[in-house]
Amino acid sequence: ELYNKVLELKGNIRVFCRCRPLNGEEIAAGASMAIDFESAKDGELTVKSNGAPKKTFKFDAVFGPLANQADVFEDTAPFAASVLDGYNVCIFAYGQTGTGKTFTMEGTDEARGVNFRTLEELFHIIKERQQQFRYDISVSVLEVYNEQIRDLLVTGTQPGVVTRRLEIRQVGEGIHHVPGLVEAHVNNTSEVWEVLQTGSNARAVSSTNANEHSSRSHCIHCVMVKGENLLNGECTRSKLWLVDLAGSERVAKTEVQGERLKETQNINRSLSALGDVISSLATKSPHIPFRNSKLTHLLQDSLGGDSKTLMFVQISPNENDLSETLCSLNFASRVK
Ligand code: ADP
Ligand code: MG
Repeated sequence: ELYNKVLELKGNIRVFCRCRPLNGEEIAAGASMAIDFESAKDGELTVKSNGAPKKTFKFDAVFGPLANQADVFEDTAPFAASVLDGYNVCIFAYGQTGTGKTFTMEGTDEARGVNFRTLEELFHIIKERQQQFRYDISVSVLEVYNEQIRDLLVTGTQPGVVTRRLEIRQVGEGIHHVPGLVEAHVNNTSEVWEVLQTGSNARAVSSTNANEHSSRSHCIHCVMVKGENLLNGECTRSKLWLVDLAGSERVAKTEVQGERLKETQNINRSLSALGDVISSLATKSPHIPFRNSKLTHLLQDSLGGDSKTLMFVQISPNENDLSETLCSLNFASRVK
């Protein structure tokens, strides 16, 4: 509750920056760190590029290479709690391929990420509130690839082959819905883990090159919450979106043709549409261009109004990635 008040005062958009550690290969190759995290506690990082003047960026939080999944979740948990209070919430991971978007959202078996931890937190709070509230939770897992929506909880679907055409329908004032999308009802954290695994397996096994495919599609979890206050009968409905975005790296136009060019254009379109929507919301622009991409159209009800948005901007510490890192940091400054 207190957190919600603070959020209202400061606006509903938060940007966290997370930087992965240098990996073994980079260390072996003698790569140098281009980012300084001395002021990370104050939400600042400094880019110290060779020769060029240092540039400082400020965020709501900065997680350097030493921050672990629990550290990151500590600052993310209040967003999860907001969903149970009836707020819509979107959590995104944005950045160049290989910077840790999937690590932050999905994580690994040993180091579970925001997706699992958020749902675990929801069930934790539900238990605490069980005297006064009853909640009903279901989860959908989908992918947006080439401006097409694919249901990852329907087994045996192939990327590009849309068995059932899924479309976004407006079913009421400010209510958008994807008819036919599977909604898996979950009662506890182990059921959550099963659903998350099913979704991520569907994504991996159905593509010839899982890594390449996942870097070009948006992987989306939607958690639907129905709440009932047992004391006064008041009901709430809210949604939490957890989005592992397609890689933001720029691809030289001359390098790609045909199918690949269309893919690249669709990614650029949806990421810039997302940036446009969030920055129009931040500047309280009267027109919010939700309809410019499937992604923003899908999330329309949960962006703006009293919804809460958290964007993780994922970066690499490697000096060789500096130009992409600067693009991501600039994107982040734009949505703030
Ligand atoms: P992306 O989804 O942005 O393409 P990944 O999440 O696949 O990137 O991360 C690339 C690699 O770096 C993976 O092997 C991942 O486990 C590792 N990695 C990313 N972030 C971290 C981190 N903060 N700590 C340790 N390893 C990380
Ligand atoms: Mg990934």
